[in-house]
Amino acid sequence: MDIRYHLKRSGKRKKTLSVQIGKNSEITVYAPSFTPIAEIDRFVEEKKGWIARTLTRQADLPALPEEKKIATGEQLYYLGASHPLEVFFEPLENAGLVFWDNRFYLNCSGGRDIRKRELVAWYRKKAQHYLSTRVDFYGRLLKLPVKGVRITSAGRRWGSCSHDNRLSFSFRLIMAPPPVIDYVVVHELMHIRQKNHSSQFWDLVIGVVPDYQAHRRWLRDHQHLFEF
Ligand SMILES: [Zn+2]
Repeated sequence: MDIRYHLKRSGKRKKTLSVQIGKNSEITVYAPSFTPIAEIDRFVEEKKGWIARTLTRQADLPALPEEKKIATGEQLYYLGASHPLEVFFEPLENAGLVFWDNRFYLNCSGGRDIRKRELVAWYRKKAQHYLSTRVDFYGRLLKLPVKGVRITSAGRRWGSCSHDNRLSFSFRLIMAPPPVIDYVVVHELMHIRQKNHSSQFWDLVIGVVPDYQAHRRWLRDHQHLFEF
């Protein structure tokens, strides 16, 4: 998929688009009020080289955003809702993460790195199952042949489609609400037909997900909650 960025529209702007990268690697695009999203995407595409260079330079600097401790009382997102986490250690029970009755229970004796590994393992498993099912559903509906579904740990892209039609999705996508997940699934599936973000591509997406812009916005507004 594309580069994840915040979009700030302003009626005061006349014609120019601009892009800024904050200290925490957040990308913000400033655009006049009525610029079509396809045009903004094209602009970001053009700036890809500069964005990549700037992010690489920043990667050498210490990270700023505060990390989750992965401790009792924190909230974890799953299918669009946040649920409280409880961390405990009970050696006689199975280690790992369990989701039950709208709460997460993590049985783990280790520190943050091991807790994180348990969380990622759980999310990857759920994402693989859920996304395979949705890709299968839409793949049949739209008659688009998929070669396979892979789950990644990508932090900056929700999904991608390879030249030979293998789809990849970040495990973080499973934290989003089902309609948002479906939009990303349809987006990547449509890359089987169109390997770009041209207006023809967006027409294909709109044909299946007419309100796709609201879903893109949701992802942009919530992505910072999906880190741990
Ligand atoms: Zn895309």
